[in-house]
Amino acid sequence: MPIYEYVCPSCDIKFELLRPLSQSAEAAPCPKCNNSAQRVLSRFACLTTGDDGFSSMIGGNPCSSCSDASCDTCNL
Ligand SMILES: [Zn+2]
Repeated sequence: MPIYEYVCPSCDIKFELLRPLSQSAEAAPCPKCNNSAQRVLSRFACLTTGDDGFSSMIGGNPCSSCSDASCDTCNL
């Protein structure tokens, strides 16, 4: 199961969660306040929105050409 990073906007904390790929885009409950935390990019994720410049910083990554938000093939 891939691991994902989430940030709680209320507590301003970051935490990691093992989740099925099918749930990766869903908000996760914050371990402190139980609010919805949004998924953020980790070093290993290849989620690219195309407007943050993140994708261009991943040199040599097979996902660097990926522009799909779901990016299923990169999380194997
Ligand atoms: Zn929180």
